[in-house]
Amino acid sequence: MSEEQFQDRIDALEREHEQTRNAMWQLLEKKQNEIYALYHVSRTIGSVLDIQEMLLQVAGIIKKSIPFERLSLYLLDAATATLELAFFTGLNIDRKITIPVGEGIPGRIAEHGEHVHIHDLSLFYETFNDFAHYPEEPPQDGSYIGIALKARNEVIGVIGMDSPAKYGLNVDDMDFMAILSHQIAVGIEKSRYFEMIQQLSQRDGLTGLYNHRIFQEKLRHELSRRDRTQKSLSLMMLDIDHFKQFNDNFGHQAGDAVLKELGEIIMSQCRCGTIDVCCRYGGEEFTIIMPELELHNAVKVAERLRRVVEINSFSINGNNPDAKVTISVGVASIMAQEDFSGEELIKHADDALYLSKRSGRNRVSYTPGEGEGKPVSS
Ligand code: GH3
Ligand code: MG
Ligand code: MG
Repeated sequence: MSEEQFQDRIDALEREHEQTRNAMWQLLEKKQNEIYALYHVSRTIGSVLDIQEMLLQVAGIIKKSIPFERLSLYLLDAATATLELAFFTGLNIDRKITIPVGEGIPGRIAEHGEHVHIHDLSLFYETFNDFAHYPEEPPQDGSYIGIALKARNEVIGVIGMDSPAKYGLNVDDMDFMAILSHQIAVGIEKSRYFEMIQQLSQRDGLTGLYNHRIFQEKLRHELSRRDRTQKSLSLMMLDIDHFKQFNDNFGHQAGDAVLKELGEIIMSQCRCGTIDVCCRYGGEEFTIIMPELELHNAVKVAERLRRVVEINSFSINGNNPDAKVTISVGVASIMAQEDFSGEELIKHADDALYLSKRSGRNRVSYTPGEGEGKPVSS
């Protein structure tokens, strides 16, 4: 071998060495990002209980290692065999999306429980005329990976992600997502259990309204908030008239059906879930905390509610399709500049309710600050 040939050979070896070294560095960096992602995903799952917040943070972490542009996450409702879109990013969706198991790529992943990699989405759209993220989506070029989310070996959902570049997402990305997906599934299950426990401990099982304990807690909270804002705060207390007799006539189950439907009427007539706090105080008594509502407006709400209940036909099982009940209502308010404790406010509302009962039932009474209440309707 001549000296020149020898030098060429050395140069070639050096180039090869350089390429191998670069590839090794790239691989090392990728693996480092993956370890970073694994660590941070497990930390997030350990510390964040709100499902939306958790998925938002997890998507942000994954994006640092996998170059996806759009991501959709469906959760399976096994009872109805449907998938509900629970989270997405990069997609232009403004409606609730539910798809049957078996439809679209997410539906088929849920059906078979297998992960999917598509290196060229344009071929997929041509061949299958189907969707990757949601029905009627505009076809998109690029690559896709879909992961079956499993907990205890059962599919609980599907994650789909795509990149605008062909081969932008590869089989390695899919394998890595498959590893991550176990943690994500655990996180989702944990959040769901947390929501369930919260629901059980805060809500009344029959009506779905807040229970007595949460009523007291929320009242304390609203009163301390009011200390800062100095705005009015109203409390409505209501009780079904002659409910013992109703139970005696129609049975306890029919009574339960009335309580449940009354809960729904309260929810539809008040700002429950946003501003008002609607509670089952106990038995056939309900309370509604109405922040920032002055007495005369609170009385209007109470009067409207009383009237809606009066004309409503309650559905109970059996041969009495149009059972009727009425309610007696008491309203009390703390006006700006006034200062009552929670106990005092409850007592005022209770006194007003008692006045409604005494004056003949099916009416609204109120206590404007301290003093005698006044019936406003009959
Ligand atoms: P008033 O007009 O004075 O309020 O008369 P009332 O019969 O409604 O009052 P009372 O306090 O004597 O009776 C309340 C009844 O409410 C008795 C109880 O059986 C019924 N009740 C309480 N909780 C429930 C429940 O969860 N389900 C059913 N079905 N009835 C209940
Ligand atoms: Mg009662
Ligand atoms: Mg009653």
